[in-house]
Amino acid sequence: MRKKFVAGNWKMNKNVAEAAELMKEIKENLEKEVSEKVETVICPPYLSLHTASEIFAGSNIGYGAQNMHYKDNGAFTGEISGKMLKDAGCRYVILGHSERRQYFNETNHLINLKVIKALESGLFPVLCVGETLEQREEEIHKKIADEQVTLCLKGVSEGDIAKIIIAYEPVWAIGTGKTASTEQAEEMHSEIRNSIGNLYNISTAGNIRILYGGSVNETNAKELFSIPDIDGGLIGGASLKAASFIKIIESALQ
Ligand code: PEP
Repeated sequence: MRKKFVAGNWKMNKNVAEAAELMKEIKENLEKEVSEKVETVICPPYLSLHTASEIFAGSNIGYGAQNMHYKDNGAFTGEISGKMLKDAGCRYVILGHSERRQYFNETNHLINLKVIKALESGLFPVLCVGETLEQREEEIHKKIADEQVTLCLKGVSEGDIAKIIIAYEPVWAIGTGKTASTEQAEEMHSEIRNSIGNLYNISTAGNIRILYGGSVNETNAKELFSIPDIDGGLIGGASLKAASFIKIIESALQ
């Protein structure tokens, strides 16, 4: 059975002191039994990863970064490598978030290079895919998700695919308060699982975790997480309040 997974993407929010406060609040209030059953991950800004390593040491709460470069080191001013993230104790890295695609021109090819390097660095990539509103209106949303999955996973071996977590995040639902309906989410998650089946095999498709992301909150999480193909969520805004984030994690309990 696929273990549910809930990750908080803090984006460019919280300085180190504020991050420490929120991390402590989450750690202190999240029941151990819950974090044993639901894989719980926090992705703060890079500057707070060290704080995460101290606060979450010995707990079930994992942490990761929101991005990385596809080289190990070199003259890439302002960048951070997968090796550095691993050294900082990260287990996960979010790759291909729609904000990176939209504001930093990340292409499927670039994301693929990052996915390969993340795996090589010993990280578990949380690969984001999802269509824009225009693409949904043009009814090419399934094709777009298939294409993103196929191109971003190019060259990922059958052994390594087990380390990938996919997040389906319709761009029109991110930070907008609009959530995909259960039918829309169901359709896309099953489409993505089928794509994985075509690229690899049925058993790999059955094992891979596919998260939903896009305005998940404490009110809608339970319904979304009860859809059989949804294995948890990638949470933006609602992960910035300990009480809301914890309720969302609890909603993932089966
Ligand atoms: C996200 O940024 O990945 C996200 C899902 O954001 P929000 O929950 O705020 O829509």
